Amino acid sequence: MSPLFKLSIAAVAALVALGAQAQAFPAPGKTVTLIVPFAAGGPTDKVARDLAEALRKPLGGATVVIDNAAGAGSTIGAAKAFRAAPDGYTLLVTHIGMATTPALYRKLPYNVEEFEYLGLINEVPMVVVSKPGLPANNWTELKTWIGENKGKINLANAGLGAASHLCGLMLQQALATEMTTIAYKGTAPAMTDLMGGQVDIMCDQTTNTTSQIEGKKIKAFAVTTPKRITMPPVYKDLPTLQEVGMKGFDVSIWHGLYAPKGTPAAVVKALNEALQVALKDADFIKKEEALGAVVAHDDRVTPAGHKKFVTAEVAKWGAVIKAAGQYAD
Ligand code: ASP
Repeated sequence: MSPLFKLSIAAVAALVALGAQAQAFPAPGKTVTLIVPFAAGGPTDKVARDLAEALRKPLGGATVVIDNAAGAGSTIGAAKAFRAAPDGYTLLVTHIGMATTPALYRKLPYNVEEFEYLGLINEVPMVVVSKPGLPANNWTELKTWIGENKGKINLANAGLGAASHLCGLMLQQALATEMTTIAYKGTAPAMTDLMGGQVDIMCDQTTNTTSQIEGKKIKAFAVTTPKRITMPPVYKDLPTLQEVGMKGFDVSIWHGLYAPKGTPAAVVKALNEALQVALKDADFIKKEEALGAVVAHDDRVTPAGHKKFVTAEVAKWGAVIKAAGQYAD
């Protein structure tokens, strides 16, 4: 064998080894950051923290940390993730805001279509709740109280484009009442003020309301889904908003996982595979179900299925928001 031939075999072998190394994701010792565009302790933060734990094993024991980049109805954190290095080490966990902000913000600092879609995580119903001292104990009494207090009611939300904003908007329309909106950086701080009686009403995910209702720290009146919620049991006696006369009222939120545009296909594949494993983690499923969330187990857990679903949601919510004539900027 000629020395030149021997050398080229060695060169090819070295290149193959280098390629394999470049493809190994995550590289040993690297940290994966999940950007959460809402405050710590809220619904999006909770799912992200539970997911971080479930992702650790399928990501080869990698450290997965949370970065709360809260504010402006999720757009600050989403913009941060959009501009991050497309190497798979900085990801975004966000909710329905991905589909509502394109219609609400005319100058959005990112394009939702340009993210890499890694998969849907869960779906979460919402519930109409109030401060503990509000003098109403069921939907009929709440409606009467709202009618008697027109112009004086405060409604908390997590910023323009957040699920609580949308739900509150639809509620005000259905009740033909305007409430004073108080925007927070997430519904965790909003919940603190609701429990303290500084705000009157909020519409939020069950993942943020279950233990507070169980502990009688807030009151609950109705759920936003077309069907009643039977689990956890604290919701089973609550009517749906449709039952109490709000025709077509159907708001369920969802969370998904995204990477910046340009993330290599092999990394997207590795992340999707890790997500698929994490979503089957018994502990993760148990934690989500205990708070009323349903973990995704369908085609939407694939990048293509996830993107198709979000694109349809952008169209659905865009029409609702335009009809309401709402803009954030
Ligand atoms: N629950 C919030 C919302 O209203 C978001 C959050 O704090 O996770 O969209």
